[in-house]
Amino acid sequence: MRLLLDCDGVLCNFLAGAIPVLEKHLGESHDGRDDEWDLFSKYPKEIEKKCYNDFSVEGFCSSLPPYEEAKEAIPRLGKIATIYVVTAPLNGPYWVTEREKWLASHFGIPRHRVVHTSAKYLVQGKVFVDDKPEHVEEWKKSNEGGWALLWDMPYNRQDRWKHLIRATCWQDVESALR
Ligand SMILES: [Mg+2]
Repeated sequence: MRLLLDCDGVLCNFLAGAIPVLEKHLGESHDGRDDEWDLFSKYPKEIEKKCYNDFSVEGFCSSLPPYEEAKEAIPRLGKIATIYVVTAPLNGPYWVTEREKWLASHFGIPRHRVVHTSAKYLVQGKVFVDDKPEHVEEWKKSNEGGWALLWDMPYNRQDRWKHLIRATCWQDVESALR
């Protein structure tokens, strides 16, 4: 049985690394609402471009912190399912390599179980977990027999995504596997 997990927002606290980069380029603190999906929505495109440039430099991806709850849950889930990480890579020559090393060192997930793609719906499994509503919707359309779970975060709670099944904790993911 295959469990497909997103990385950023689910295993990896991307915002913890991204917000300081944003604030560096803003020259002030980010006072955005945490219930908006797009971190950059209220800022000039130029700021977003500078941030993505910094996200692509050597060492950024590997510096991101894992979620502690995920570190506790993954070994347990790994006993009942084969875990694959399905993650859409950012640009740059370092991201993919650093992500694979990061997943191996923080979660013990080997690189042959990491799928780097934005076309997540192509990957088959029993349960799919992602914090991006569009990925969850697309995956469900292509994998009707599977469980598509939206990893619940403040930034994906808008009304238009109310129809999706949410996982609010790792126990919810475990229940979907049983
Ligand atoms: Mg994500």
